[in-house]
Amino acid sequence: MKFCPRCGGLMRPAKINGKYYWVCIKCGYREEIKDPKEIEAYRRTLKVTRSPRDKLVVIEGKNNVPVGATLIKGSVRCPRCGSDEVYIWMVQTRSADEPPTRFYRCAKCGYTWREYA
Ligand SMILES: [Zn+2]
Ligand SMILES: [Zn+2]
Repeated sequence: MKFCPRCGGLMRPAKINGKYYWVCIKCGYREEIKDPKEIEAYRRTLKVTRSPRDKLVVIEGKNNVPVGATLIKGSVRCPRCGSDEVYIWMVQTRSADEPPTRFYRCAKCGYTWREYA
């Protein structure tokens, strides 16, 4: 287990642009993983402590918008109210070699949903 030096949140390994990083699930802080053994060690602890496979990890930030979320307009529509202003962000919910889950939140009504990348 590794914890974020900035906020104390749990860090998970994630592959970004071909490199492995520890990414804080709370604040998004990143730290490059230089030794792949760290990931193996993390996976071993995961086998024991792993929570239900599809457990939803939602990161709340200011104004109910997750840290690191980007507001996009026109390309995604809210399934509930039809608004095309939507926040998008990624969460590594599973192991590091699987693609991160993409989350969306409607800027208008706050409806949140997700999609596998
Ligand atoms: Zn953090
Ligand atoms: Zn909406």
